Amino acid sequence: MPKKKYEEIVVIGAGPGGYTAAFRAADLGKNVTLVDKDPVLGGVCLNRGCIPSKALLHIAKVISEVDRLSKMGIRFGKPEIDINQVRDHKDKIIARLNKSIAQMAKARNVNTIKGTASFLSNSELSIKTENGTEKIIFDNCVIAAGSRALMLPGTPKNNPNILTSKTALELKNIPDTLLVIGGGIIGLELGQVYAVLGSNVTVVEFLPTLIPGVDKDIVKPLYQKLSKQFDDIILSSKVINITDNDNDTLLVTIENKDETLCKEFDKVLVAVGRKPNTDLLKIENTDIVVDENGFIPVNEYQRTTVENIYAIGDITGNPMLAHKATHEGKVAVEVAAGQPAVFDVQAIPSVVYTDPEIAWAGLTEIEAQEKGVAYKKGEFPWAASGRAIVIGASQGKTKILFEPNSNKILGVGIVGSGAGDLISEAVLALEMGADAEDLCLTIHPHPTLSETVGLAAEVFTGTITDLYLQKK
Ligand code: NAD
Repeated sequence: MPKKKYEEIVVIGAGPGGYTAAFRAADLGKNVTLVDKDPVLGGVCLNRGCIPSKALLHIAKVISEVDRLSKMGIRFGKPEIDINQVRDHKDKIIARLNKSIAQMAKARNVNTIKGTASFLSNSELSIKTENGTEKIIFDNCVIAAGSRALMLPGTPKNNPNILTSKTALELKNIPDTLLVIGGGIIGLELGQVYAVLGSNVTVVEFLPTLIPGVDKDIVKPLYQKLSKQFDDIILSSKVINITDNDNDTLLVTIENKDETLCKEFDKVLVAVGRKPNTDLLKIENTDIVVDENGFIPVNEYQRTTVENIYAIGDITGNPMLAHKATHEGKVAVEVAAGQPAVFDVQAIPSVVYTDPEIAWAGLTEIEAQEKGVAYKKGEFPWAASGRAIVIGASQGKTKILFEPNSNKILGVGIVGSGAGDLISEAVLALEMGADAEDLCLTIHPHPTLSETVGLAAEVFTGTITDLYLQKK
């Protein structure tokens, strides 16, 4: 007979959403069990996503910076890359953070189980572990089981030359040639890492732009940089076939409206989106309604269609971002603990951690045009920022969209060094319902890139002195 126990809150999945939910629940005085099939806590973000990719992107950025220094009179030799040491460095960062999460779980008396959780009913879970199966009856459950890489249909199975973001981050070797399928966030971040480490990278994107959905002017400086770093960027094209060339290389057929190309690559990285891990949960044993793509819809309290089961993070749908999951995790357990919490945010920022970085929050121009939302904009080119020039980042840009009558901020897009950090001011401004004047009257330290946020607002109000604008 499997062991049976009772728990106030069970959290399935120990990614940033799941462990945050578990820790917050414990801090609210609840008995909590946190279940994950991985041997370590931290989920995709820490173990095979955000953190390892940023460790590698940091290295890529420093190599690019060193390259820029050569134009400033400081020359280093060609970098010598010890891939084993790079991998060790990345793995040590992961291990350090794994340890810190485990320590925090222990300090809070969160019971952690390494096992696969599946539902038996609306109030009972089965947990399959190395030592057998146990059952947990719960008052509340938070599903934070995340997502995994989508594969293109017809892709050769179990072929070591086909990479996903997970296996690409293992960094087994640096292939001579790499095809990245998908010019979205994962494709470009990892494509840039491999290009800087020495691969000849080609990207194929189905749509006519890289990072579709982001304003073209914001993507442009990155496109220009990648055009130099990559062998080729093939837009408006799709991969229709991949065949295994005797387990050595891959033959890839790429098609667009004008031609069909057949090219050979050492490795192919598939980065065409992610799908929810709902299929592992035996959700059919509950009354939870799942949408046609397998995502679990939730209300503003993060509740599923079952009162005592909540869902957070990637499994609830786009945007699949760790910081959204974290916020949702807190809401879910606060609601479960009877607190007046609700997911009610004005904007969820997105960041592409390439060099240059891209970040946006709130309305984009593409979205405004699609939805017919009226807006006016203020743009500050970083070519007029002393700090940007000093650090060789003058290609950057800060753009703010405003509501034409109230001058309230509707959205912000930034491209350039540190855009991911700069966007936080915009998110706070959106959250506080700030307008152009609020940004203009906020003293930004000089000389910083953060000034560009205030200066973009000054361009809009016409009070800027750092640029000369023709009187209208
Ligand atoms: P994505 O949706 O960002 O990009 C996938 C791209 O692949 C799209 O541009 C799409 O048009 C293209 N595509 C689809 N099918 C194709 C085909 N057959 N041939 C060529 N191109 C094709 O997905 P992703 O980059 O895999 O990322 C998945 C999720 O993970 C996203 O939700 C993303 O937000 C999240 N993520 C975020 C970060 C970050 O915050 N920095 C980092 C990594 C991943």
